[in-house]
Amino acid sequence: MIKLDVDIKGKSFLNAQNSVLGHLEINVAKGEFVSIVGPSGTGKSTLLNMIAGLESIDSGSIRYNDQKLEDKPTCKLSYIFQQPRLMPWLTVAENLRLVVPEVTDSEIESILNKVGLEGKSALYPKELSGGMQRRVSIARAFLIRPDILLLDEPFVSLDEPNAKRLRSTLFDLWIEHKTTVVFVTHDLNEAIQLSDRILFLSSAPGEIILDREIDLPRPRLPEDIHFQNWKKQLLSQYPKLLEGKIKQAGLESLFGDHR
Ligand code: ADP
Ligand code: MG
Repeated sequence: MIKLDVDIKGKSFLNAQNSVLGHLEINVAKGEFVSIVGPSGTGKSTLLNMIAGLESIDSGSIRYNDQKLEDKPTCKLSYIFQQPRLMPWLTVAENLRLVVPEVTDSEIESILNKVGLEGKSALYPKELSGGMQRRVSIARAFLIRPDILLLDEPFVSLDEPNAKRLRSTLFDLWIEHKTTVVFVTHDLNEAIQLSDRILFLSSAPGEIILDREIDLPRPRLPEDIHFQNWKKQLLSQYPKLLEGKIKQAGLESLFGDHR
């Protein structure tokens, strides 16, 4: 497990006037599960790509355990994308072997058991449902025993029963491995259910407008009254939070903004 520190002054693809991300300071503790929630287009995927080193940063730093990203920190990172990104010409086992060539058959069966895919190692991706393919991508991500796991809306476009089962699989694996997690979603229920803390991003350029710890006992179920009350209270305090705005109509002056 590692701690993650992000301190970037902004991110633009074209010019500074068209900043996608604003000034961001994010600290994630070892083993912490942090969700990032914000409307689409606010730069959530860009941020994860920067954390993973797939996208350059304009200025500032990203540190894994105080080692700068550009100094190639000695930790293991897994990234689960929205699409499972399996190699279609390889079986489930071969897809897993691609990331950890030395993995044994029994280790493959063991991780497949944990994600509910027992006996499926010889199948090809096209023989699996969308939910099962995502299970393989979760198995692949945990197979390398990551110190940090990044997830970019991994359960979007799945039907709710499937998404629910996958959330619980992810949660069980996180409890077992105690990996540091950064989870991007636009689904507030999902974020409340899984995370230790939620960071809410503003509409573009994305900045953190609220950093909220979730002090509800686990396991958390969206149908539970305490869960619903927690969410209701948050949204009544900040009705436009999910639109990426913390200011409420008519209250702008309280925040010192008279434009
Ligand atoms: P989110 O994941 O929150 O929906 P993204 O990070 O995908 O947002 O994108 C944020 C903005 O940055 C979008 O307006 C998108 O068009 C723009 N963007 C993302 N990647 C690039 C790129 N490589 N070149 C130019 N613009 C980009
Ligand atoms: Mg995105």
